[in-house]
Amino acid sequence: MSFNFIEKLDLANKSVFLRLDLNVPLDEAGEITDITRIERSLRTIQYVLQFTNKIVIASHLGRPKSGPEAKYSLEAVGSKLSELLKIEIAFVKDYVKAPVDQLIQQLGKNRIILLENLRFFPQETANDKGFAATLAKGIDYYISDAFGAVHRAHASVAALPERFPSQKKAIGFLLREELKALDQLRDTVQAPFTLVIGGAKVSDKVGILLNLIDSCNNILVGGAMAYTFLKYQGKAIGNSLCEPNAERLLQSIFNNAKARKVSIYLPDDHICGKSLEDTQTRICEGDIPDAWMGLDIGPRTIERYKNVLLSSKTVFWNGPLGVFERPAFRQGTLAIARTIAETDCFSVAGGGDSVAAINLAGVADRFSHISTGGGAALEYLEGKTLPGLKALTI
Ligand code: AMP
Repeated sequence: MSFNFIEKLDLANKSVFLRLDLNVPLDEAGEITDITRIERSLRTIQYVLQFTNKIVIASHLGRPKSGPEAKYSLEAVGSKLSELLKIEIAFVKDYVKAPVDQLIQQLGKNRIILLENLRFFPQETANDKGFAATLAKGIDYYISDAFGAVHRAHASVAALPERFPSQKKAIGFLLREELKALDQLRDTVQAPFTLVIGGAKVSDKVGILLNLIDSCNNILVGGAMAYTFLKYQGKAIGNSLCEPNAERLLQSIFNNAKARKVSIYLPDDHICGKSLEDTQTRICEGDIPDAWMGLDIGPRTIERYKNVLLSSKTVFWNGPLGVFERPAFRQGTLAIARTIAETDCFSVAGGGDSVAAINLAGVADRFSHISTGGGAALEYLEGKTLPGLKALTI
């Protein structure tokens, strides 16, 4: 696939639709907990601002169910953007009833447009062509830096760029950097290559496991994922989160790993609690008793995983190894982040949770690349055609 890069476009005084991924993590009170995605979008915005201030920024935030939900408003993101860019943001809530083409012309210096959460309109996730036509009103160029959304066939990432001819659309700095790092990981892997997979849902990550089994040497499994694996092996997992009906998936993972001599590592001790909120934790070695849940990998597992990581030359990490949001269950995830940071290997981490954990451990600068898109990175590495990239090809 080849794309125009932003530097190829003549943007002087032109109007630009900038699809970014400003889908920042929020806490229960709706406060932004990590601004990585905002910060990583700044370079492209600043670049465009050198040529024009007729900029319309758009993003999704969270998964609102049907229509506007105050907690998913992009207004707070707009304030942060305004503060970081030192520019005024014209925040537009209903751009379907009143498209922004008139407003673009009235922007004047030092003022750009931010559209309210695209997913407040059901037409966005339906990849609706009419919605895309509305977004395109008064726009000369489409630029995407929304790596975290390119695996979605949604209107602002698929139907909208499809409307623009090759010479009128491009990728920005972040999207270029993401693709370069993931291409490097996929095409020039140095052995031993270790995949660290955590998080909750096996079915979300099976594709990557099966795809990268061809090129990886070790798979370290953590998070709730691990309990689905352990149950399949006949271990007692107590009340731990476990995905039902995953036997066939696991069978193919184990069969493929065996055929290709890939080692799959599973936790053999666990930090357990009776609920996610529990602070009365205990370490369970081997089997987990009834009523207890495995919520983090235990100290012995951390040591085993560390040894594998320290002798790796390439590492890809997706998903936390425990319920890292809770201090009682974050040691495993932090230890993995710190260990990867200690090595000189080519290291890529993807996914909002892994990135938040890396920031928490304070080791972001030690990773070769931190991807802003978990799902997108997984699907890209699986070799899938991503709708948001297909729509940008020239
Ligand atoms: P994912 O989106 O699949 O990467 O899953 C991330 C979520 O998995 C995080 O919110 C973690 O709290 C959660 N998680 C990780 N380990 C466990 C576990 N052992 N039990 C329950 N949830 C977990």
